[in-house]
Amino acid sequence: MPMAFPRQITLLGATGSIGASTLDVISRHPERYSVFALAAHRAVDRLAELCLRFSPRYAVMLDMGAAKALRGLLQAGHCATTVLEGEQALREVASAPETDVVVAAIVGAAGLAPTLAAVTAGKKVLLANKEALVMSGQLFMDAVDASGCCLYPIDSEHNAIFQSLPKDFRRHQKAGGVRRILLTASGGPFRNTLPERLETVTPEEACAHPVWSMGRKISVDSATMMNKGVEVIEAHWLFGVPSPRIEVVIHPQGIVHSMVDYIDGSVLAQLGNPDMRIPIANALAWPERIESGANALDLFDVATLSFERPDFGRFPCLSLAYRALEAGGSIPAALNAANEEAVAAFLDGRIGFCRIADVIAATLERKGWADAKTLEEVLEVDARARGLAREEIRKRGAA
Ligand code: NAD
Ligand code: MG
Repeated sequence: MPMAFPRQITLLGATGSIGASTLDVISRHPERYSVFALAAHRAVDRLAELCLRFSPRYAVMLDMGAAKALRGLLQAGHCATTVLEGEQALREVASAPETDVVVAAIVGAAGLAPTLAAVTAGKKVLLANKEALVMSGQLFMDAVDASGCCLYPIDSEHNAIFQSLPKDFRRHQKAGGVRRILLTASGGPFRNTLPERLETVTPEEACAHPVWSMGRKISVDSATMMNKGVEVIEAHWLFGVPSPRIEVVIHPQGIVHSMVDYIDGSVLAQLGNPDMRIPIANALAWPERIESGANALDLFDVATLSFERPDFGRFPCLSLAYRALEAGGSIPAALNAANEEAVAAFLDGRIGFCRIADVIAATLERKGWADAKTLEEVLEVDARARGLAREEIRKRGAA
């Protein structure tokens, strides 16, 4: 049965950077989109503000104390939104029969279970939470195929690749004539920083991205280029392309969001200002096009587009991610977990910037990464990798 307007949207990670961009697009099209549920970790004031503005049926806080505080604020504001709490509630709003579209914008492994619940329930899923796919690759895509869910990437590069590939490419690979995927990367804030200076960079410097304004975890991932590494893994699973055919291209201006190189020598690209509302609007309305609020691209203003090879020596996280994808099995899940722990430790001042890659490498060197075929097994690998990464962090910690 075709979906009726307005589409009912569940937004997981509503208080974050992608959450804000999504709500901005939605608010421009009230006849098309209505908010069914908003979910977040514990940012009570922000979620209360969003509930008063968008009047969702449900608001979910992972944290119990935060849920209680939110109930109080909403009662005082005479808002009829029902407040739920905990992980089970996240899965419920992501798979509720009333939901048409789920925007998966929780950061990190915490997003896996609710995103998978949305996929299994056959929802239209807009994926920002790349960590969920990186952790569970085959399991996630098998769930997509089993339910027939429509999965749309809103990571800007993957949305660009999606727009540049033949329709339904993953299922009809051979007919496509695709040679390579060219995954662009801005290179982050430390593209030209001297290697010895990298030893002392601060979290604030790492989070000051030259092109994009994003949450702190993905900002650090961009600075180490682990973000591009996990995007290689993300592209592999979304489009079914093996890693040797996914090439990272440094493009500091952040205008070409990625490209597809075809065997006849044609290269198709998607360009635009670096504004996440563009991929979000594209995925929400596809195959239609709607206004996103982003400014039109002024090529005269941009003037120059440049491209460079990535420096794998300066950015060891990029090689670690390629190696994890090639190793397969549960190694990408371990890579992701170790990275999340190492980035959190760097943001808290427990380890230096260059120790992030060391912690991940040392974690992956520990043996016994059994294959993970179920959600429970993936979460076991995640927990083991976090435990080992914490040991490695303690060994390298400042205090
Ligand atoms: P953010 O830190 O700004 O927001 C994260 C959101 O997740 C918040 O709403 C937070 O409350 C919620 N959250 C965190 N932990 C949670 C938990 N345990 N349970 C429930 N909710 C939880 O992050 P962001 O920059 O919006 O990124 C979100 C995701 O989108 C990440 O996976 C990131 O890699 C991806 N992404 C972001 C951008 C961007 O421009 N920000 C671009 C591409 C992809
Ligand atoms: Mg991206």
